[in-house]
Amino acid sequence: MREITLSNGKTIKVECLSCALTSGLIEPDGGVVIEIDHFHAHQDVAYPIKGLIILASKRHIKCFDELTEAEKMDYINLLTKIRKAQREVLGIENVYYFYNEDTTHHFHTWMVPRYEWMYQFGRSVESVRPVLLHARNNMNSGENIKEVMNAINALGKELNK
Ligand SMILES: [Zn+2]
Repeated sequence: MREITLSNGKTIKVECLSCALTSGLIEPDGGVVIEIDHFHAHQDVAYPIKGLIILASKRHIKCFDELTEAEKMDYINLLTKIRKAQREVLGIENVYYFYNEDTTHHFHTWMVPRYEWMYQFGRSVESVRPVLLHARNNMNSGENIKEVMNAINALGKELNK
């Protein structure tokens, strides 16, 4: 069991944060960006980067080879759809994708947009951890959070139309 502190200050105990989010037990800050049969997309606002999306399976699985045929179709179709919306609505030219199987949560893919300011942390994959930490520690100002929330709303609107 993990104890999670919600944005409203309440704490709850959950077995798996991804299960809690995808089942609707926990409402992510900024809300659900899009939800389909087997997948669920939201922004992790702990990392306030405009257009960053976490795409999680609804089923509690860890490894890629556990996906059913229907889940595979949902995954690739939704990943592509979100990517297209990031480009069309937010002008995002490049995205980094991360997914690791040895997670304490369950199957989820990070879609991290690449912005100019990130190059101060390096050019490629090795810069991602410092970028995320920088965002978490230094980008929680009201103005940036507002921009992040606007981006979530714009993506959600595009994806659910
Ligand atoms: Zn789970």
